[in-house]
Amino acid sequence: MITPLSCRNFINGEWLTAIGEATLESRNPADRNQLVATFPRSQVKDVDTAVAAARKAYQTWRQVPAPARAEYIFRVGEILLEHKEELTQLISREMGKPLTEARGDVQEGIDCAFYSAGEGRRLFGQTTPSEMPNKFAMTVRMPIGVCALITPWNFPVAIPCWKAMPALVCGNTVILKPAEDTPACATKLIEIFQQAGLPPGVINLVHGVGEEAGKALVEHPNVDLVSFTGSSQTGAFVGATCGRTHKRVCLEMGGKNAQVVMEDADLELALDGAVWGAFGTTGQRCTATSRLILHRDIKEKFTDMLYERASKLRLGAGNDPNTDIGPIINEKQLLQVSKYLDIAREEGAKVLIGGEIASEGELKNGYFFQPTILDEVTPNMRVAREEIFGPVVALIEVSSFAEAIAILNDTKYGLSSSVYTRDINRAFTAMRDIEAGITYINGPTIGAEVHLPFGGVKQTGNGHREAGTTALDVFTEWKSVYVDF
Ligand code: GLU
Repeated sequence: MITPLSCRNFINGEWLTAIGEATLESRNPADRNQLVATFPRSQVKDVDTAVAAARKAYQTWRQVPAPARAEYIFRVGEILLEHKEELTQLISREMGKPLTEARGDVQEGIDCAFYSAGEGRRLFGQTTPSEMPNKFAMTVRMPIGVCALITPWNFPVAIPCWKAMPALVCGNTVILKPAEDTPACATKLIEIFQQAGLPPGVINLVHGVGEEAGKALVEHPNVDLVSFTGSSQTGAFVGATCGRTHKRVCLEMGGKNAQVVMEDADLELALDGAVWGAFGTTGQRCTATSRLILHRDIKEKFTDMLYERASKLRLGAGNDPNTDIGPIINEKQLLQVSKYLDIAREEGAKVLIGGEIASEGELKNGYFFQPTILDEVTPNMRVAREEIFGPVVALIEVSSFAEAIAILNDTKYGLSSSVYTRDINRAFTAMRDIEAGITYINGPTIGAEVHLPFGGVKQTGNGHREAGTTALDVFTEWKSVYVDF
């Protein structure tokens, strides 16, 4: 039995209990009897203290040379590497993803540290000829100020790193408000930032519930930027509030990502992509494959292959090395997935495999849902249009490439997309015509790398907001400078 972690807020370089009396709990979603951590239910006053600390620290942090700021982040990467296995185990226990995926989650944080640290030695501006003699015209990047980072539970280490690391290298100070489901992962991560020796107030952590601590941060007059990853519903609130209170806002919300498999595709390769894209992280990624658009010539064969692979997937606890598919994060989300199966049946989709909550044997104390394939789905059904966030994939048959792309684009979301084909013309057409932030050719809809921009169009969010050099555009503002001499 592992002793539960007692999490605290981290404000101005100190671990503090919250002003709010109440304590919340995080439990292993594979076994709700296992308490992983307790954490404070922060109130407006706690948020005020954190914002004041971040605001004060900003005055000095912004003056630290960018290469020196970057060295702290490089050190964070080194310490993350030293603690990789410990964090991996914690992610699996608190969030439920299998160990191999949890290891990938930490690795993304490490990659992001080293990538962001490198940017500290660039942060390039531009020079351009002035219209006038004896005059220089140039641009420099300025930090934004105090950044509130509101992060989800599905990548409890990687996503906070994607946001905090470039923000800090650019000279901002940050306040992390992690998801209620993964406070322990956030606490361990912040301990690592602390070990790297960041000055007090540069990075702060405030636990609590979205409607209280999260809302207070988004509304706070002394916060300059909010970077949010989460549900479309909460994102709409965050966006509206930031509009009203004049804050810069970055939104990463839902997806209804599709993988197209054409008749000329390498079917084994496409199968690996489909299984991993649909059922990896139990389908709980904003990039998950929730629609498979299959050309009619290969539909039957591919469906049989997929059925065969799905029937062999083993459900279990994240930290059991035999597990392929971990639990759903919590009861609310489990019921949501189950509700979509009722909708699918009512709409006339055929459940090929799965379709039920799994609660037999060792699964009985967790939130498990069987990997599910829905056949005979038509593009107008709700299960083809709404984000489910679970291990459910809808099969849609098409007769041409043009029809496949039209159906792929027929969604309000625009995050990730994938096309399996051996035809280079189709590959480039897909690159040009798909309305999504990310397009993979002959790869699954998941697995983004940290050095390319990450983000979506349409109702997924307001563009590429994380990773790559676009993160610098988010966390800095340009200043134009004219020097007469
Ligand atoms: N890094 C993940 C991927 O590309 C997506 C992160 C997310 O789901 O928010 O699959």
